[in-house]
Amino acid sequence: VKNGNKNNYIYYHPEMKTAMTRKVEIESILRNALKENGFKLVYQPQVDLTTGEVIGFEALLRLKDYQIGPDRFIPIAEETGLIIEIGRWVAQETISQIVFWRKKGFKEKTVAINFSSKQLRDKSYIKYLLQLLSDNNLDSRYLEIEITESILLENDKETIAFLNELKEEGFSIALDDFGTGYSSLNYLTYMPVDKIKLDKSINDRFVNSNNIKIMESLILLAHSLNLKITAEGIEEWDKFLILKKWGCDFIQGYVFSKPLSSEAIEGIYNQDLIK
Ligand code: C2E
Ligand code: CA
Ligand code: CA
Ligand code: CA
Repeated sequence: VKNGNKNNYIYYHPEMKTAMTRKVEIESILRNALKENGFKLVYQPQVDLTTGEVIGFEALLRLKDYQIGPDRFIPIAEETGLIIEIGRWVAQETISQIVFWRKKGFKEKTVAINFSSKQLRDKSYIKYLLQLLSDNNLDSRYLEIEITESILLENDKETIAFLNELKEEGFSIALDDFGTGYSSLNYLTYMPVDKIKLDKSINDRFVNSNNIKIMESLILLAHSLNLKITAEGIEEWDKFLILKKWGCDFIQGYVFSKPLSSEAIEGIYNQDLIK
């Protein structure tokens, strides 16, 4: 693994280290990344199944100098509390990117950012977002906030108030990783969300002709609650066709595009990914 500093290599042998040492090491990588501009965002297109248009992107966090993915470092960021500062960096970087694309005259599109339930500890997060937006003269409709079911497990007044405040301020809210937890259906009736994102595991299990009924019901249910539905992790063309036929609204998956650098996004920003 290459270190952030030039000419400085740390040889990283995962099998030789205990989980604890690795955790401490990743924690220090994260602290450095916050100080030394070591993070970047990649953006994955979301495609409207009826028009073929790229309607927006999900911003996904990466470490510039390490092959350590967010599935690995986000839990450590959460445990150590670093997620608070990282979450603010993600919001700030996303907003500068949107402003940059706008200045280039690109069409308005939404960018979704991930919000960890641990960020609920960031009491002034919404204020921070609103300040960033007003500093940049940007409307809140450009931002979508992705939350996971775990936030809903903390089904207290404060969490609901937080989500309602986001909605009132004009942010849209997507329920991420839908179908990976339990009693999800119940949440849908009282949570103020706009969209659900069907997790890859659900799509892998149900998007084939044998399980057409389950998938169809999920889509009908979402629509009957006035929710939009995004299928995530779609890799194959035939799955895309099935989802389109069943009335799924959006797809985010390798079938159209992997997450791309902001520069690469510019090449497809105004294209329709399905003709
Ligand atoms: P997620 O929010 O469920 O993001 C979707 C993940 O699925 C991304 O992985 C994306 O690259 C991957 N993916 C999308 N389409 C496909 C596909 O067709 N096939 C396959 N195999 N994978 C696909 P990534 O970028 O590694 O992120 C992993 C997780 O890390 C995210 O899952 C999210 O929970 C977390 N994460 C990433 N960035 C952030 C962030 O800025 N803040 C927070 N709190 N969490 C983040
Ligand atoms: Ca997400
Ligand atoms: Ca997801
Ligand atoms: Ca996930």
